[in-house]
Amino acid sequence: MHRNGRVLLIYTGGTIGMGLNRETSTLEPLDFNHLIARMPEFAAIPAGIDVHQFNTPIDSSDMSPRLWARIVEIIVGHYDNYDGFVVLHGTDTMAFTAAALSFMLQNLTKPVILTGSQLPINQLRTDGRENLITSIEIAAAHNSDGFPRVPEVCIYFNGRLLRGNRAIKFNADGFNAFDSFNFPHLADAGIDIHYHEELILQPDYTRPMTPHFAMDSNVFVFTLFPGIQEELVRHILGTKTLRGVVMRTYGSGNAPQLPWLMDALSEASDRGVNIVNITQCTAGSIEMARYNGGFQLHNAGVISGYDSTVECAIAKLMHLQAHYSDYQTIRHMMNTALCGEITTNE
Ligand code: ASP
Repeated sequence: MHRNGRVLLIYTGGTIGMGLNRETSTLEPLDFNHLIARMPEFAAIPAGIDVHQFNTPIDSSDMSPRLWARIVEIIVGHYDNYDGFVVLHGTDTMAFTAAALSFMLQNLTKPVILTGSQLPINQLRTDGRENLITSIEIAAAHNSDGFPRVPEVCIYFNGRLLRGNRAIKFNADGFNAFDSFNFPHLADAGIDIHYHEELILQPDYTRPMTPHFAMDSNVFVFTLFPGIQEELVRHILGTKTLRGVVMRTYGSGNAPQLPWLMDALSEASDRGVNIVNITQCTAGSIEMARYNGGFQLHNAGVISGYDSTVECAIAKLMHLQAHYSDYQTIRHMMNTALCGEITTNE
């Protein structure tokens, strides 16, 4: 495989590149070129690095499907000129972006590593330097035959390389902010970086990477809780533009056995709304046949989200709904692993 030893850094914003606004005492995004010019270790990295920054860097709370398409455009526009890509991103919505990119960059043949930090890179105790430098090393890493070691969309954070569509942000202030509770790490970085090769997806190198830009955001997430009200649930499920729902259920996929809830779900499902069952637990999978409450959901047309994260289920629904109009196909594909995002035991 042709390589040129170059990595493109795409700076979207986030704490890693932020500085203190003295008037408001809040953090706001800064020009990243300016920041790395003051980082001597950057010049010592053995890969050629170019920086492409968003015109207006954002706090990742402002991330959107339109900006995901922008990241895809940047990657596509530079795909042949770089061995890998590092996307610098705020931590708050990084797991959503990683999941979205995993579906938008079909048959990805190069590493796309998302990273960021909990403290700005110009602060003394920052976690940003290590996250950035190791991410660049992973984006440039290749086997002796020239093929990349990790041709996947990943999140690298605090020593862990995670499959992007399996990761969640689980800690708001620790440096260990991300993990993938339903899938092992793709690599662990200590003195050396240990890649767990048997877990890493391999694309079809004889075919090109196919980018997808469209996302359909007509999705909604709701969490079941004791005391949930019929009127509110019916209001949401009855919304005309609604096409997909991620329902966060109890344990292995259970719901209260309320006749009105089953009716409302059945009606929406019959209308073509795709309702995906995801557990409220951080780890584990949906098993709807295990208890009666789950079995009733199945009968109401709710489909299993298996061991998907909520972030990934939302991104996958948005992607599938933008590309398919018939709900049978969407539901079938929701139950099929497209890029390692769920464990279906098949
Ligand atoms: N609010 C910031 C963001 O997501 C937090 C961070 O980067 O850690 O952009």
